[in-house]
Amino acid sequence: MSETQSTCCYCGVGCGVIIEHEGDRIIGVRGDPEHPANFGRLCTKGSTLHLSAAPETLAVRARHPQMRPHRDAPRSRCDWDTALDHVADRFAAIIAEHGPDAVAFYGAGQLLTEDYYVFNKLAKGLIGTNNLDTNSRLCMSSAVAGYKMSLGADAPPCSYADIDHADCLFITGSNTAFAHPIAFRRIEDAREANPAMKLIVVDPRRTDTAEAADLFLPLLPGTDIALYNAMLHVMLWEGWIDTAYVDAHTEGFDALKKVVREYTPAMAAEICGLRKQDIETAAEWFATAKATLSLYCQGLNQYASGTHKNSALINLHLASGHIGRPGAGPFSLTGQPNAMGGREVGGLANLLSAHRDLSNPEHRAEVARFWGVDDVPAEPGKSAVELFQAVQDGHIKAVWIACTNPAQSMPHQALIHEALQRAELVVVQDAFAHTETCAYADVLLPATTWGEKDGTVTNSERRISRVRAAVPAPGEARHDWAIAADFARRLGARLGQAELAERLFAYDGPEAIWNEHRDSTAGRDLDITGLSYALLERDGPQQWPFPAGAAMGKIRLYEDSVYPTDSGRARFVATEYTATAETPSARYPLHLITGRLRDQWHGMSRTGLVARLYNHEAEPLLHMHADDLARRGLADGDIVRVKSRQGAVVLKVLAADTVRAGQCFLPMHWGGNAMAGTLGINALTPDAIDPYSKQPELKHAAVQVETFTRG
Ligand code: SF4
Repeated sequence: MSETQSTCCYCGVGCGVIIEHEGDRIIGVRGDPEHPANFGRLCTKGSTLHLSAAPETLAVRARHPQMRPHRDAPRSRCDWDTALDHVADRFAAIIAEHGPDAVAFYGAGQLLTEDYYVFNKLAKGLIGTNNLDTNSRLCMSSAVAGYKMSLGADAPPCSYADIDHADCLFITGSNTAFAHPIAFRRIEDAREANPAMKLIVVDPRRTDTAEAADLFLPLLPGTDIALYNAMLHVMLWEGWIDTAYVDAHTEGFDALKKVVREYTPAMAAEICGLRKQDIETAAEWFATAKATLSLYCQGLNQYASGTHKNSALINLHLASGHIGRPGAGPFSLTGQPNAMGGREVGGLANLLSAHRDLSNPEHRAEVARFWGVDDVPAEPGKSAVELFQAVQDGHIKAVWIACTNPAQSMPHQALIHEALQRAELVVVQDAFAHTETCAYADVLLPATTWGEKDGTVTNSERRISRVRAAVPAPGEARHDWAIAADFARRLGARLGQAELAERLFAYDGPEAIWNEHRDSTAGRDLDITGLSYALLERDGPQQWPFPAGAAMGKIRLYEDSVYPTDSGRARFVATEYTATAETPSARYPLHLITGRLRDQWHGMSRTGLVARLYNHEAEPLLHMHADDLARRGLADGDIVRVKSRQGAVVLKVLAADTVRAGQCFLPMHWGGNAMAGTLGINALTPDAIDPYSKQPELKHAAVQVETFTRG
């Protein structure tokens, strides 16, 4: 048996794993005791990674390229040259007739940094379109916009080690116990070591995380800004503001004070459905602790007001001086294993390499010079929801989807399915052939996956870890970066740019790509010019920034209280509470909130292959309060139809005391069946987006629930 050190491919904790393998089979996995994110621990998902790569799962792997002559024909096996030449011909023809913005790429936070880099260069450097977005838009883009708006950069200031130093933890919009289990174990350890530590949990639902809280605030969905503003109101009233910090290192506090003056605890209690004294207690614990650390995730991000929710939370840290010190700061938990790495290379429609902004002409010129291309187009690309809307309305003719399943994970699924049906060309590059999106693929390109590929990922605490191959790829599957680079050279030839494409994509492996990415970060906030694959090999995972000459990366940002804004000061953002995109009505009277289960990961394309992981929850159940069941004459276990303005799903109801009357909950993991014409949970969610981050409101919809009768 051999062993290979790598990284878990699920959540943003980014746990180190040791893959045990024999020949070309992965036979086991265990936690890497040396990895600083997990010190040898793994959760249920991570500890069954080997089962998701068991020989039986080969049945659902994409192993050979496939294509079909037209939409109604079945796909059949072909060779790589035939598949890539066909796609290059089609892309070239569409670009010649309609321009570069008629094509688009849609990727994933599951891709490695090296894969992301090549796709970004292909779209923005060779083709000349910024139509490259990823499912990170569904996950973290409001956290990104919030950090940039308040602190000046997309850079989480904290580390997991801060959990050990905090004496107040404020978990808001995150079921950490289920979604980031190893981080939650660290919280449990820290509380054991420091019994005086306070844990406040804010969530509409009484989750497992909430069960552990010293103070639980079950606020009404989407009312977070009213709560945070009221907490600031209390801090002002009680004199708990760190005035020295505010005066020396921030700007905009007077404007914010005017706004929060209106948010009395009594008013917020009304809006949020909370007890006034609980809001006051939360404010006191938050402000008067020696070090307060906030942990937050999709409960803030996946709302049409997601950016302002992030900023309103960061306001609390700036006002109380809980930032830039051990145990203190706003720590956004990344959903996916490499959403952060994707942003580092500019893998979103509004970004460029090394956190450069597409809207900045100097940044565009820098990137064009670095790549050796004439220019990078100024026109912003389409964000995830806009991208598929443009496919649906015919402005984007060809879409290339890599390593993700938008037919399931995007909101307003009916529209996404219609878009994929209407597209002139759908290319799907994936390791798995059983996703809903694959059903729409005109060309299916088989890719390698966890255990088979080499590169890097960056976790929530800015830590870059190596991902390593333990076994060879099945069939003819190729690495994501290699598929994109091969295609780029073929397309370049057809666009009259053969020489340029050969030069831009002359990579002999992931290290060459990563070195180029590293060199592009010189002088930027995420400068990693002091790092190399050799150093990662020798010293293990490292945090950025890590500039040339540094002995180590930074554990914590803003310890000098200097912020990357024009003034060098952090910015208070005066935000008002706004209601959810959909509010309950007579027709749709219930708040539906969506969330995650402990043992499934996102769209289940991998965890869904592991029988053991269904022991926790075998099917999606609609959690509903007893009063709401009684009002509808329903009983636990009945089959119901849940209907929103976007669509409907049919499933079993579960009597649950974890949601309040007037609310219900569904786990987001289950999809439908594209071939059978059924939709999944995201059939219900709206495609309303945040105006700053463009992140959709996947967390909430207004719904009706009724007994299901066939016909
Ligand atoms: Fe993997 Fe996240 Fe579990 Fe760690 S906590 S083993 S990264 S799923």
